[in-house]
Amino acid sequence: MQKINEILSFIKDQYKTDDFIPLHVPRFRGNEKKYLNETIDSTVVSSVGAYVDQFESMMENIVEVEKAVAVVNGTSSLQVALRLAGVKAGDEVITQALTFIATANAIAYNHAEPIFLDVDLDTMGLSPKAVSEFLEEFGELREDGTYNKNTGKKIAACMPMHTFGFPVHLDEMITVCDNWGIPVVEDAAESLGSYYKGKHTGSIGLIGGFSFNGNKTVTCGGGGAIVTNVLELGKHAKYLTTTAKRPHPYEFFHDELGYNFRMPNLNAALACAQLEMLPKFLEEKRNLAQEYAEFFKSINIKFREELPDTKVNYWLMCLELGDKEERDNFLKLTNENSVMTRPIWTLMFRLPMYEHCHRDQQKNAIFLEERIVNIPSSVR
Ligand SMILES: *Cc1c(COP(=O)(O)O)cnc(C)c1O
Repeated sequence: MQKINEILSFIKDQYKTDDFIPLHVPRFRGNEKKYLNETIDSTVVSSVGAYVDQFESMMENIVEVEKAVAVVNGTSSLQVALRLAGVKAGDEVITQALTFIATANAIAYNHAEPIFLDVDLDTMGLSPKAVSEFLEEFGELREDGTYNKNTGKKIAACMPMHTFGFPVHLDEMITVCDNWGIPVVEDAAESLGSYYKGKHTGSIGLIGGFSFNGNKTVTCGGGGAIVTNVLELGKHAKYLTTTAKRPHPYEFFHDELGYNFRMPNLNAALACAQLEMLPKFLEEKRNLAQEYAEFFKSINIKFREELPDTKVNYWLMCLELGDKEERDNFLKLTNENSVMTRPIWTLMFRLPMYEHCHRDQQKNAIFLEERIVNIPSSVR
């Protein structure tokens, strides 16, 4: 790759260093230490506390939802969101194969089976057209929902994922799913700060999940949030993730199979301080994306920019290279030269746990799998 030296020096200039440049690292430049110290001094570090409540209300304001529930990680937020959407053992859930493993695992943890459908080339997320075509061919609308004619199983939910913060075509997705009576559960793990037609991702489907893992835009070490505009579902999410214990001053009585998925107050303290920084992070990422966009345009490499009607958080920024050979070369040369880059995920149906699952042709997913790479995207 002839342009590689130019690329390496441009990225090193952005971060003003010759040392190793990671893909994405957190920045703690706000009230993180102050809130953590307060929490430790108070001894209220565990599964309840003021910062948990504050985190939930901050998320309600940012995502503009009726209810946000703090949980221990993003995967568990999706697991519970699917259950609340009505997914039961033996059901099927439509999702994309081009995603991080947590999306598919959250389905499997509910003893349901993923159906992997193709993504759109422009959004890199689940394609409403692919969903519509699949349902036209295999869907059978009954009184209590849509069933798969092939397997006789209920298609209980559809879970699109907003890849690297780029929102899927949500209007079209919701329309298709509404026609078939299938609830939409948004995997918004990567898209805190991303908007679709002015609405925050995660707030548009029935229910959504976010991640606050160490590599995400905002982190609290590990954490997640379930969000919904249906207050009853939100309350149920809180109940289920806190062991489904009936409120009582001292008796222990649990009336459903709940989970201990609570976010500790210590992590919530970190999360609150980080959420305060979100607007700054988003602005700074947007500036970096702008610099990248201009540079890569000048050397004829495709840098992925936000689509009309959307606002992207630029969580992990990405390039679309010419072919797999160019991609492999790029990954080798950058990683050998202290600039961390990464290919997009291996498609889910190539993994042993999911290779038996139903899928369509995956033309776009395979195209992107061979060409998309992530480049350093941390806040500078
Ligand atoms: C990060 C992520 C999750 C959740 O991850 P946790 O590490 O459990 O917080 C879920 N889905 C996608 C697509 C992700 O990128």
